Amino acid sequence: MQFPPSIQKLIDQFAKLPTVGPKTAERYVFYLLKQPQKNLDEFSTSLKELKKDISVCRSCGAISNQELCSICSNSSRDPAQVCVISTTQDMISVENTNKYQGITMSWGVT
Ligand SMILES: [Zn+2]
Repeated sequence: MQFPPSIQKLIDQFAKLPTVGPKTAERYVFYLLKQPQKNLDEFSTSLKELKKDISVCRSCGAISNQELCSICSNSSRDPAQVCVISTTQDMISVENTNKYQGITMSWGVT
């Protein structure tokens, strides 16, 4: 027996995600099937809008929703201290420590 095409299609999409194999993808889809339509609509909207307001900071290369990210547009940051990060996720992690007041440069855009 095969899954209905709408289910199989979504399993195939989830299975493309890093570290998600077909069985995990299947669990995700069956979890979603049990959710109220409102939650599915919010999930769908989040996916549709994911890249709409996203750009790359023209100064440091991190992903941002503005021309300059919140670090580069903050004049109270110390430009003499530069933290080189490989991903925007790393940059957020450093920021969340609230210990670093220098600027960051992104190694790549991810
Ligand atoms: Zn920046």
